[in-house]
Amino acid sequence: FEGKPPAKYIGRITAEVLRLTSLMNDILLLGRIESGRIPFNPVATDLKEFVLEILDANRFDPTEGRRLLFAIEGVSRPVMVDPMLLNHILVNLLSNAFKYSRGKPAPELILTYRDGCTAIIVRDHGIGVPKDEIEKVFESFFRASNVENIQGTGLGLAIVKQFVEMHHGTISIENTHGSGITITVSLPS
Ligand code: ATP
Ligand code: MG
Repeated sequence: FEGKPPAKYIGRITAEVLRLTSLMNDILLLGRIESGRIPFNPVATDLKEFVLEILDANRFDPTEGRRLLFAIEGVSRPVMVDPMLLNHILVNLLSNAFKYSRGKPAPELILTYRDGCTAIIVRDHGIGVPKDEIEKVFESFFRASNVENIQGTGLGLAIVKQFVEMHHGTISIENTHGSGITITVSLPS
């Protein structure tokens, strides 16, 4: 073509630039984690408010507009978390939950206050992860064999795991009964 490129190319180029930027940011972030250059500044936080702010600030499901189901169990109390890191953790988990469950019921987030720890449970009803691959999802660049044309680089959960461990927390994954996966982040408190 001559002159101005058609709008459809501009859209595609923009999408690719965004994708590459996010890939580069994730690679740089992993490098900074590895060299111990991510600050950890925990502050006492109301996790309910924190989750609501994240839902306000992000559009997790632009194509279908599904809304996250959000529930709280137990008696709430402030939890010591680093806001930057926890934001990254939750945005990643919720993005995955929506991205891998298109056309299925909306994902859920359950905040559970337990004795000595607070669990953040993200459950979806999507494509799930084949049983023999489920333990690999926290490895960098790992993508399961069933992702087909759903885009990603396999870095999100590797970063999430590092950030959870900086909180001295744990993260685990299991198959959701029926379909999809459930990820549990457990933070000491
Ligand atoms: P990105 O780096 O953009 O996040 P990604 O989503 O592929 O790319 P991860 O978030 O690290 O990478 O997830 C690793 C892999 O684990 C995914 O490629 C996918 O196979 C699987 N996975 C993660 N979350 C889910 C989910 N909610 N449902 C099904 N599979 C998932
Ligand atoms: Mg991801």
